[in-house]
Amino acid sequence: VSRSPFGGLNYTICDHDGKFLKHGRIAEQAAPNQILYSLCNRIVKTAWENRSQVILEANGGKNDRMPLRDDRCLSNGQYAALAGILKYKLPEKRLPPPVEVSANGLFFTCPRCSNRTFRNRISSELFACIECGYASEAEWIGSENLAGRLIKYQRDKVPLTVTKQKDSLLFYNRTLGFECTLPQNVTDYQPMYDELSRYLRDLGGAFQNDPKKYAVWKKLCRSPDLRAAVRLILK
Ligand SMILES: [Zn+2]
Repeated sequence: VSRSPFGGLNYTICDHDGKFLKHGRIAEQAAPNQILYSLCNRIVKTAWENRSQVILEANGGKNDRMPLRDDRCLSNGQYAALAGILKYKLPEKRLPPPVEVSANGLFFTCPRCSNRTFRNRISSELFACIECGYASEAEWIGSENLAGRLIKYQRDKVPLTVTKQKDSLLFYNRTLGFECTLPQNVTDYQPMYDELSRYLRDLGGAFQNDPKKYAVWKKLCRSPDLRAAVRLILK
């Protein structure tokens, strides 16, 4: 669910493989003090009907480079407030809380190949990727990117940084809060994977209010093979 250049919100729904299902606009005529609540109700209803995970722009959509903005558009402050309301409105309906992803250049990033350049915007109405040729009306680019972002992210491996200490190797992932040390001359990292596996089990997933941590935890827990789900970054 992104901000809409025409006021209110635009949403895109895709399936678990990232295949486009439908999109729509959510706009409400309501008193200024009611507008956010009525928009939220519409989002919750749509998410409920489609059994969806709601994905929002982080930081109120700051730097999303939305085209055609005018005074009907939701401000960054209003969009951030909307995210705040959804954090408890969605769980009330037994839906997961919204996930917020970076909004930087959201409206001129290609939803198909992720190429991000202002030259992708042919006009204020039309988007066409200079890399892969993907074309769409500019207003849908934001929500299309959001809808696909989590799937792209889930396909990506979880980074685990490895640094050399004095006579040991330190493995860590800050989002997860995981740290493990092995002797530097070790040839098999299996003890680290065992430690990670224990760590994930002990965490138990009781931190739904931290969506980033929860997403990483869930991704690793669901993976049949930890080694295949992790990408080691040597520093
Ligand atoms: Zn492209």
